[in-house]
Amino acid sequence: MADLTFVGAAGTVTGSKHLLTVAGHHVFIDCGLFQGEQAITALNDAPLPVEPDDVEAVVVTHGHLDHIGYLPKLVRDGFSGPIYCTPPTQALMQIVLDDAAQLQVEMARRGLEHERAAPPCYYDERDVQRTMRLVHPVALGTSFEPLAGVRTTYHNAAHVLGSAFAAFELEGKRIIFSGDLGRYDRTLLYDPDPMGTADTIVCESTYGDTVHPPDAVATLRAALLDASARGGGIVIPAFAVERTQDILLAVAAIQRQEPRLQSLPVHLDSPMAERVDDVFERFPEAHKPIPNDGAATPFGVSDFSLAVTTEESKALNHLEGAHLIISASGMATGGRVLHHIHNHLADEKSTIVFVGYEARGTLGFILTHGAKTLRLFGDTLPVRAKIVNLTGFSGHADRNDFTRWFSTCTAKPHLYAVHGEPASAAALAAFASARFGWTAEPARRGVTVQL
Ligand SMILES: [Zn+2]
Repeated sequence: MADLTFVGAAGTVTGSKHLLTVAGHHVFIDCGLFQGEQAITALNDAPLPVEPDDVEAVVVTHGHLDHIGYLPKLVRDGFSGPIYCTPPTQALMQIVLDDAAQLQVEMARRGLEHERAAPPCYYDERDVQRTMRLVHPVALGTSFEPLAGVRTTYHNAAHVLGSAFAAFELEGKRIIFSGDLGRYDRTLLYDPDPMGTADTIVCESTYGDTVHPPDAVATLRAALLDASARGGGIVIPAFAVERTQDILLAVAAIQRQEPRLQSLPVHLDSPMAERVDDVFERFPEAHKPIPNDGAATPFGVSDFSLAVTTEESKALNHLEGAHLIISASGMATGGRVLHHIHNHLADEKSTIVFVGYEARGTLGFILTHGAKTLRLFGDTLPVRAKIVNLTGFSGHADRNDFTRWFSTCTAKPHLYAVHGEPASAAALAAFASARFGWTAEPARRGVTVQL
């Protein structure tokens, strides 16, 4: 007997955590942190439906914080089983969790210093080290058994380097967890693998009701031209994990076509950027060749500089004239980009370009939904900078990508829509029913279903 409990990313996009129970044995598929508004992040403190030491394994789909960020807390609370993921995900996980632990410790320290409530510190770097010792990397297409008698295989999901959807075979059924599904025809990643047969699919639905704009690079070019004509700073909050590489590639392509932008200084402000670049180098088979035309700078961006140290980052506060700063995090939930937003928000010459999904309650969500003022680092700032929201660079499947991927399914499964706001999840479920004749419904947090 097998059942499935939706613990996270049900009715929301963060906190991905699905509990599969087979004959009384438990495995988590993903183990992410809830992020965004306080009512959502409070769910990180809610008790799990099982004790951490009763969980036998975790199967991770990819290395984003909302899919792995709870792991060190799970380990701190008693979990000691294997954590499965692909080899590139293992490498990204180390970088992402190191960063998350540092940020949590730093926020807690600042909270103490200023005697104000800080967000909870769930773990530190020692917990991350203990977590990483439990990781068992498994290549795409190689089967493993997270529980006795449960055969699991990873297949390419085209969402971020190393991302996979996981197919579970148990009791004569095949259950697929999409993780985050990426997109077809991407610059750096290969297309998602075909789904094959399935009895149940637990599918993300971030953009279940949307079609991304067709030409993201042209939209970015227009935004850069407008911003540089106004002579101010341009800030792009971008996930250091791979989205940054997409943006740099796009900027390089734009600069090759657009003489007016060739002298635009481009600053990548990220202590993680070099480590992520190393992962790309270590796993050449996991991505398409990187086009850089033999240029000396990353991806052929002209006038490029990298800020790794805090001092280098702070020096960017004093730049004059048009310049571009790319810095994490993408939803502006923390990290160095907050300082750049603080520095540019009240300046009408500046532009802030969001390029990913902005979860409800994050600073990215607030700014892309028309905020007139923003409270940041104790200051109330007027929003005078131009705010641009480019969803075309999203690493998440849109309606067209779902159509292509669903078409590769050779059966009529039951679909549970997860990892989406309620409207997107409902829209994807309705679409799967109407277009493909599947039975489908949005997953509800805390609910257990039989497989
Ligand atoms: Zn993701």
